[in-house]
Amino acid sequence: MNLSAQTQTPLSVVQMLALSADEWAARNPPEPVEYAPLKQKGIDLWMKREDRLHPQVSGNKAYKLLGHWQQANAQNASCLLSFGGYYSNHLHALANFGASVGVNTVGIIRGHEPERLTPTLEDCRALGMTLKFVSRQRYRDKLDPQWLAQLSEEFPRAYIIPEGGADRWGMLGCSGLMSRLRTQIDLQNATICLPCGTGTTLAGMASVSIAGETLLGFSALKLGERYQQYCDEIACMMEGFDSFGRWSINADFHCGGFARQTPELLAFSQDFEESTDIALDPVYTAKMMFGIVQLASQGRWNPGQRIIAIHTGGLQGRRSPGITDDLN
Ligand SMILES: *Cc1c(COP(=O)(O)O)cnc(C)c1O
Repeated sequence: MNLSAQTQTPLSVVQMLALSADEWAARNPPEPVEYAPLKQKGIDLWMKREDRLHPQVSGNKAYKLLGHWQQANAQNASCLLSFGGYYSNHLHALANFGASVGVNTVGIIRGHEPERLTPTLEDCRALGMTLKFVSRQRYRDKLDPQWLAQLSEEFPRAYIIPEGGADRWGMLGCSGLMSRLRTQIDLQNATICLPCGTGTTLAGMASVSIAGETLLGFSALKLGERYQQYCDEIACMMEGFDSFGRWSINADFHCGGFARQTPELLAFSQDFEESTDIALDPVYTAKMMFGIVQLASQGRWNPGQRIIAIHTGGLQGRRSPGITDDLN
């Protein structure tokens, strides 16, 4: 398996910052993908390979960080601080980003310091990120203004990025993923699929969508009764933009919950990777593709339907052992 198949030499982060997010997105136009279970149903599958954008600052995380970076510069910040778990793609991307542009980074980690760091956190520390471990209880306060004020004192001139990069600035950065897409492929009568954690990426894309375009997000989280609240929060992020009726969230393929896996999911992603030579991450993109295949087999789409899946990257997360029980 070639995890880093490249059609062109990736840009460095510094080179990327000289370009707009639109120009990043133009580098990886959707490509047709043949996968028998979808082909049999007449589904016309395409994939936009944002995993190829940059080997470390990959996929949607780069777009979100762009929005935050512009904001941090406007505030003359000297350090970037954010939150995440032991396997966080977001912190991993942030640490690499900071090391590339020469800015200090701080990661507030959910849970005590383990005896052996996970490969993700080992990378973060090696890249110069300051790791601050906090109890899960404390971590729950990640939006509490008082705690944020304390963190600002502890890390002066830090620009604080919410967990998962999930706010208006992250959302605006992700809009770049969408703008060029309709010049690259006909989006009318197509469904654009993407995995969702905080839903920021979906919000960014939906915020610049136009009539006739359809986005379908696959939640990596088990939402249950929180479903409506989750959708409301996504809608809130794109307040002021008209995207009504052009996006929806499917929450049926969480496979047990965030970062959890089932034998069906594992078997599926192995089969998908062997047939297509496209690597998926177990937390997000595998669940999206699994969901697409399940929906197709349930007859959700008519033959001829075009599906454009956004590969949001995050392949570093493949080093996670797969959570079957709570880590902390
Ligand atoms: C973080 C992440 C997501 C989720 O993005 P949100 O904007 O939080 O919805 C999706 N895919 C991958 C690979 C990620 O790392």
